[in-house]
Amino acid sequence: MITGIKENLEKIITTIPKNVTLVAVSKTKPIADIKEAYHAGQRIFGENKVQEMAAKYEALPKDIQWHMIGHLQRNKVKYMAPFVSLIHGVDSFKTLQEINKQAKKHNRIINCLLQAKIAQEDTKFGFSFNEIETILHSKELVDLKNINVTGLMAMASFTNNQTQLAKEFSSLKLFFDKLKPLQTTNVNLETLSMGMSGDYELAIKNGSTMVRIGSLIFGARNYIV
Ligand SMILES: *Cc1c(COP(=O)(O)O)cnc(C)c1O
Repeated sequence: MITGIKENLEKIITTIPKNVTLVAVSKTKPIADIKEAYHAGQRIFGENKVQEMAAKYEALPKDIQWHMIGHLQRNKVKYMAPFVSLIHGVDSFKTLQEINKQAKKHNRIINCLLQAKIAQEDTKFGFSFNEIETILHSKELVDLKNINVTGLMAMASFTNNQTQLAKEFSSLKLFFDKLKPLQTTNVNLETLSMGMSGDYELAIKNGSTMVRIGSLIFGARNYIV
């Protein structure tokens, strides 16, 4: 069977402006699928399980940039600290401290996005806008010299209601723009990671600079993760 990954990618790329980064979400998908996307020119891949990402990192070309997009367990940070390129879903200060500690061991500075809670459901992880402001202004953050907070990430509500989705995306964009002037040695807000297969075009219209697309590229996943 023809998988069509290359064709899917090419089609999606025509719908994404040049200033928006595409993260190909390859969670649960086999190495062969990632290779196909790689040969079509894709270099940024997103995973949501640390061990799965580490195994794929070992098996695949080293010019791939690996993004951790899933909920993070602090005890797993060490497995990706040597190579991870961007961690999207940071939702506690303790996690930032752990990333800093592990990054230091490898003499690296690891880029992180703080996850903002914009969805209405209780199940989504993330900080409130107030908590994000508090962290970004905190003295404790200054000491984390091996992390760089490069932006915010969010997941919108699981709904088809376009008005609701647009409201959530635009509220985050507004907040992001308000924070942006805040530049310190380890806060450099450039990235707004929002938008998935079902809502990425709306997210881009509302200011997203990074979209995380899985099923539109690789097809439906066999199990829910
Ligand atoms: C799985 C996942 C995606 C991609 O979802 P699709 O609907 O398949 O595009 C994006 N972001 C996060 C955080 C995910 O876990």
